[in-house]
Amino acid sequence: MTPRIGIGYDLHRLMAGRRLVLGGVEIPFDRGLLGHSDADVVLHALTDALLGACGQPDIGDLFPDRDPAWKDADSRQFLRAALRRVHAAGLRVSNVDLIIHAEQPRLGPYKNQIRASVAHLLELPPDHVGLKATTNEGLDAIGRGEALACWAAAVLEE
Ligand code: MG
Repeated sequence: MTPRIGIGYDLHRLMAGRRLVLGGVEIPFDRGLLGHSDADVVLHALTDALLGACGQPDIGDLFPDRDPAWKDADSRQFLRAALRRVHAAGLRVSNVDLIIHAEQPRLGPYKNQIRASVAHLLELPPDHVGLKATTNEGLDAIGRGEALACWAAAVLEE
C-alpha cells in the first residue's frame, strides 16, 4: 500500500492580552497568538497536514474564521475533526513531524509536553510524533518576535 503524505503551514501574530496555546498546551508568556479561534498555530498546521493527506478541504474551508461558531474555539476540536475524516477515509495516522518557528518564548522546556499532547490527540505513541523548535535568527516578523509559525507533515496509511 502507498503511504499518503500531507503538509500544513500556519502563522499567527503575537499580541498582548492573548493566551499562548501550542499543540493544546498553554505556555506561560506575556503575549499570545491572535486569531478567531485560540490560534493554536501547531494544531492548525497539523490539521491541514492531515486533511491534505486524505484530499479533504483545508481548515479554512471547514472552519471559516467568519463563522461565530469558531470564535475562541479550542483548536483541539479541529484536529479531532480532521482525524475523524482520516478514519472515515479508511486511513490511520502513521506519524507526524512538526517544526515550530518561534524567536520567543524559548520552547525547549515545553517540547516534551507539546509532543505528548499531540500524541495523545492523535492516539499515537510519543515516538511517532516529531517536534522541533527553531528561531528565525532575529530575521523577519518571526525573528522580531511579532509572530509564530509552524510547519507540519503527516503520513497516513491504510
Ligand atoms: Mg491558523
